[in-house]
Amino acid sequence: MIWAAQNKYWGRIEESTEYWSSLGIKHIMVKNDPNGNFKLINSDACIPLKNYKLLSKLQEQHNIKYHFHPYNLIVDNKIITHPDEENLPKFRAFLKELDKIISDYNFYPLITLHLPFTQNSKRNILISEQEAIKMSEAMLNGLGLKASIALENMYTPGHNSRDPDISLLGYDPSHFKKAIGNEKNIGLCIDIGHTNLCNRPIKDFLNTDYPVYSIHLHGNDLSGDWHLKPDDKSVKDVAGTISAIRKCQGPVVLEIVDKTLSKKSIIECMQYWTQLVE
Ligand SMILES: [Zn+2]
Repeated sequence: MIWAAQNKYWGRIEESTEYWSSLGIKHIMVKNDPNGNFKLINSDACIPLKNYKLLSKLQEQHNIKYHFHPYNLIVDNKIITHPDEENLPKFRAFLKELDKIISDYNFYPLITLHLPFTQNSKRNILISEQEAIKMSEAMLNGLGLKASIALENMYTPGHNSRDPDISLLGYDPSHFKKAIGNEKNIGLCIDIGHTNLCNRPIKDFLNTDYPVYSIHLHGNDLSGDWHLKPDDKSVKDVAGTISAIRKCQGPVVLEIVDKTLSKKSIIECMQYWTQLVE
């Protein structure tokens, strides 16, 4: 089991890396984090190579691995990870360049993505599921990356009080079948917090038979996507979670956001899940 954590909400990349490293976590999922001053792409669609060079240095220094979770990336005031016709070439070019950076700098070969929005009021997005499926196919078709792509499952529309005006594809196993089809090297990221807020059980996603390349492990009170510490109270389907972790070939990311948690409680949390899975 490869334990991982995230940079976002945990300070600058140097700080978060040092923090998780001090807990024995040797893998970090890197998100865009404007507050922590780390960006995966610039607002003009250029890749800030110096950021990736810094990560490469930190990887060596701390003997850890990074992988990337580019989602909601904004270029020219538009989300390019929701690739409409205008944004599609930019998004695919970004993925190909990121893939080259991953192999050049020896990052962990995994890119975790969300499927497109069907609704996002803040960004003026409102499209049908059919259109979003078409968008997913166009975004993934024949990319031919060396790194694997993991597509993340989502909450059923209307089940997340944290973002009531946002819906994305990925709450039904059929979305993945349509989006991935027979593409090689594209699988799933099972987000356990989202499964709490989903009408379909974890096993239905596992039964699609796509590889599970990553897990996002966090919990909530079943009312919203709060990213709480995962335990037997904040995770609805513990047995399904164990099956998902056992099937997972890559990093199990503690996708938590609460900086007031003690190191002791985080270590106990990891021990709890490790013992259940072994
Ligand atoms: Zn997630």
